[in-house]
Formats: sequence, structure tokens, C-alpha cells
Amino acid sequence: MASRPVRSGQGRAWTIAVALAGLATSGAQAQGIAYAKIELSAKKIAPNLYTFTGSPGDDPVHPDAAGGRITALVGPEGVLMVDAQYAPITDKVVVAIRKTSDKPIRYLINTHAHLDHTGGNAAISALGALVIAREESREEMLAPLPAIAGNAAPPRVPARLPVLTFGMGGPMKIRLDGETVDLIPVPPAHTAGDAIIKFETADVLAVGDVYRNYGYPFISLADGGTLKGMVAALDVVMNTADPDTLIVPGHGGLVHRADVVVYRDMIVAVATAVQRMIGQGRSQREILQARPTAPYDGRTPGGQDPVVLGGPTSADRFVSEIYSELTKVKS
Ligand SMILES: [Zn+2]
Repeated sequence: MASRPVRSGQGRAWTIAVALAGLATSGAQAQGIAYAKIELSAKKIAPNLYTFTGSPGDDPVHPDAAGGRITALVGPEGVLMVDAQYAPITDKVVVAIRKTSDKPIRYLINTHAHLDHTGGNAAISALGALVIAREESREEMLAPLPAIAGNAAPPRVPARLPVLTFGMGGPMKIRLDGETVDLIPVPPAHTAGDAIIKFETADVLAVGDVYRNYGYPFISLADGGTLKGMVAALDVVMNTADPDTLIVPGHGGLVHRADVVVYRDMIVAVATAVQRMIGQGRSQREILQARPTAPYDGRTPGGQDPVVLGGPTSADRFVSEIYSELTKVKS
């Protein structure tokens, strides 16, 4: 795949969404993330699989649970992690993992580049883990990622970068602890370099931010995410999961395939409504005012929360992203 220009991260996506939505940005100095307060809770989801989530109320970007969810495979051969949370809480991450296994952390897979999923890369790598991600995600990480919610971005140490990368095509497979772990690339969805991770024996699928059920979908345009790819990536999730497969999102609660079908259909329905309004010649502001997400607002927790303090709601960000993609001049 041809390399694309490296762009800055999600901060710019928010800026674009705010500007497009015509919402006030003045006085929008985001309050920081209360890293010192964040606590991690572990949940056992299979005989040798755990997920770790941050506490609620300590992260204005993710009020339901601070940072991005971690999944970890543990067993006699070592630990394999999916995602690595914010850099400042790596010590807590390691303590939490050590409560489930004293074996070395051998692999760290990133579902995508955002700092709530990769901030701990350098520190986990220093413990001996091999960091693996999509090549496109590594490109994202080469650029100085913007700070999240006013907190400083971590230093640009080379150790944070993935050592082993993969592109589109068949999945990379890792055999560890009796498990086969599939690293499955998906088209540009949340970012340009998303991967979903399947644990074949445990029948668990960690999908990163391709799916979330706290707030509306986040198509991070500045990081190469696309509406078309988001729908295609959800098709991959649906084709990879059986009805009983446990699906672990980057943010929000655990779900099953049927929930992903509803989510995909919601995206298509909102995009269809936005497309129709564009066809009627309505402006972005008019479309936002028409609230095309209204039929789904009642069942989307966090949908009306601002994505950053003083920024657009997650619903308005989602509609702005759709509008932007559907009105983009095709080259
Ligand atoms: Zn993300």
C-alpha cells in the first residue's frame, strides 16, 4: 500500500469537527486527565484472557472509563497484550497484569495509534515486549501525536514505535499459550491503520475503536479514518465473529455480533439521512441542527457528551465526519 502523508492525530480531527460545526472553541481549555486517580479493574473473560479498564470520572475524553481498554492473554509461555493505555499509568498497567501472571510480557499489539492505546508502548517495550501494529499505525506514531485533553504528549522515544508491522492482506498469526491470535487488518476505519485481534480458542475478538458503545462512532479523519472503511471494517468484524463470540471494544461494554450488526446499520442509516440532506442542498450547520442521529440518541450513552470540554458532542462529531466524507471532492 502506498504510504500516505503523515498527519497529526485526533486533536486535529476534533479541531476540524469543532470548526465545521461552527461551535465555540473559546474558553475550551480542556481539563486534564487525572492520571494519578485512575484505577484499573481487571475482568476475566476466558480461562486465560483478561481485559483491563480505567476508572470512570477521571478522563474527560472517556468519562465512562479512563483511556482505552487493554486485553491480555496469559499463560505459561508469557503474556500477550492488546493495547497499552496512557503512558503515565503504565506502572498501574504492569501491576494489574502482574496480578494475573508473573510471566514475561512478550508481545504488545496496538489496535491503532491513538495515545490512549499506545501511550505505554515504550515502557512495555523496555520490559522486553515486541511491539506489533499496522505499518500505517507506525507511520501515525512517527508524527508527534497531539496531547489529549490538555495533557502533555509523551516524549518521542523510538522505543514506542512498533518493531513488527503488517499491512492489508491475510492475518498475521501468533501462537502463544495454546492460543492462536489472529491480527486482522481492516480498511481505514477509525484510523488508517486499524487491526482487530481474534483469539481463536477463547472465541474473543478485540476490535479497538472500530466499534464503541459509549458515544457515537469516531471516524478520525485526520488519522486517515473513513466512513466507507468503517462500514467495511464492521463487515469484517461481522464476518469474523460467530453469534457467541465475545467482542471487546476499545471503549464501552462487551458485546456480541448482533450488537455490531445494529451499530453498522445505524451508521449506514445516519449516513443515508445526511446524504439525502446534502442532496437537498442543506448546509452542514442545517444538517447538524436537523439531528440525523435523533432516532439513536436514546440508546447511545455518551452521545450528547462533548468529545472534549467545550467541543462538539460525539453525535455532532460523527455527523460532521460523515458530512465531510460525503462532500469531499473525489480526486
Ligand atoms: Zn482511537
